[in-house]
Amino acid sequence: MTDANLLPILFVPDPRLRAKAKPVQPADPRIPALAERMLATMYKAPGIGLAAPQVGEMLRLVVVDVRPDEKRDPIVLVNPEIVALSKELSTREEGCLSLPNQFADVTRPARVKVRWTDLTGAKREVEADGLLAACLQHELDHLDGVLFVDHISALKRNMLLRKLAKELKAKERDQ
Ligand code: ZN
Repeated sequence: MTDANLLPILFVPDPRLRAKAKPVQPADPRIPALAERMLATMYKAPGIGLAAPQVGEMLRLVVVDVRPDEKRDPIVLVNPEIVALSKELSTREEGCLSLPNQFADVTRPARVKVRWTDLTGAKREVEADGLLAACLQHELDHLDGVLFVDHISALKRNMLLRKLAKELKAKERDQ
C-alpha cells in the first residue's frame, strides 16, 4: 500500500465533521476505491473505524476493523443503519482519529443491530456487542455529524476540546 493511497483525516473543528452525510447512490463507481483508501488510512493511523466525512467525503460510508493487529477483517458499510439498540448500557473509553490523543469514557447501548449494503450490493446485518457495538455506534454517529464528545458532560467536553486545540496548534507550529 503506497502513501498515495492515504487520505488526509480532518480534525475538529472542521465543519464537515458536523454535517450530515448523504446516502450513497446504488452502484456509485467511486465507492470501492474510496473504501479501499479509507481502510488504508484507518490501518495506517492506526484506528479501528473511519467514516467518510472524516476524510471530507460527505457520504454514508464507514469502514471498521476492530482487530487490526491480528488477521485483518475489514467491514465496509454502505448506507449503514441502526435497526435496534439494547436497553442495557455499557461504558468504555473512546477516542477518535478526528480528535487525536483525546479519550473519554462514553456510555452507549451495550448491543446494537446494524444493517447495511456491502460492496457487492448485498444486504448485510450484524448484531454486535462489546467493542464492535461501541465502534459501530461511534462511526455511524459521524454520518450525522455527531462526535463521541457529544456523549460526555459539557465540562469534560470543553476541557477535551481546549486541550485538542492547544495540541493541534503546537503541532502546526512544530511543522
Ligand atoms: Zn471518530
